[in-house]
Amino acid sequence: MRRFVAFLLTAAVLGVCTVMLTGAAARLRTAVVSKRSYVHLGDASGVYGMRVVANSRARTEIAGGPYRVVFFPDKRYCFFNNIRLLLSYAPTRRGNDLYISRIDYDTLLAPLLGSKKAFRHPIATIMIDPGHGGRDQGAAGRFSLEKNITLRLARRVAEILRACGYRVVLTRNSDATLSLEQRSRLQQQNKADVFLSLHVNAAADRSVSGIETYCLTPVGAPSSNSTTVGWQKNSGNGFDRNNILLAYNVQRSLLRRTQGGDRGVKRARFAVLRDIRCPGVLVEVGFISHNAEERNLGSAAYIEKLARGISDGVINYHRGMQK
Ligand SMILES: [Zn+2]
Repeated sequence: MRRFVAFLLTAAVLGVCTVMLTGAAARLRTAVVSKRSYVHLGDASGVYGMRVVANSRARTEIAGGPYRVVFFPDKRYCFFNNIRLLLSYAPTRRGNDLYISRIDYDTLLAPLLGSKKAFRHPIATIMIDPGHGGRDQGAAGRFSLEKNITLRLARRVAEILRACGYRVVLTRNSDATLSLEQRSRLQQQNKADVFLSLHVNAAADRSVSGIETYCLTPVGAPSSNSTTVGWQKNSGNGFDRNNILLAYNVQRSLLRRTQGGDRGVKRARFAVLRDIRCPGVLVEVGFISHNAEERNLGSAAYIEKLARGISDGVINYHRGMQK
């Protein structure tokens, strides 16, 4: 009898909790600004067991479990566990509360906070794409070429991932000329489960340095370096939620291994990311136009750090989905 009463009490408590949880989940205030849909950040974070822990005119911070995310009104970036993520649209304030765009909620915040099990997929084959090659030398520094750095790095990433049991295929393993279409076609032909394109940056301003990781721009959003909204859905968009998870993991691991400058996780409609049929990222591992970074990119010790960072990122992405 006592056990039965305890059961009833437990059931009653659980019942109330369920109602409360459902109530919290259902409460997602929305707003429309410039014909665009926004969601209330506090409500949205509540869906994932997080809450607003600091809120001022300059910034709103949400936290819960292992996550801490900082948003800024009218700024097109946030910090997710201290990693800079570029947003499709700047958050906006209404009264005392911050709202983020629905597309950033759906394709950035929710995948990073939610259960990664929802995005699980097998990873047997990883394709590594050393940018440029052959007649296309890529960016040129004072003493080195992008095409040679990307090949050297790709070979090392391949060795590390093979040692971890993955099948790894390179789009090129020599100084060959390959079109962008050939690269994405190779992903399909090899049925690769993850695609990593490796590049080196260059800028006219020789003081610019740091690491950035790109994934494909979601449909209905502008790329990070633009304000023009794109509406075409490409095969790569079928993996939007995995793309951001992979990009975040690769960027985070690269920064950990190298202590390099964080230029952020960005979005772009690069051809190699548009036309692949698996999750993929394009990494810009440093600036060949920056004296110290070019020296780093020419050193085996630094290539090793980059290769470890990229491999860690893929492995963490894979592990995250299995948890
Ligand atoms: Zn390049």
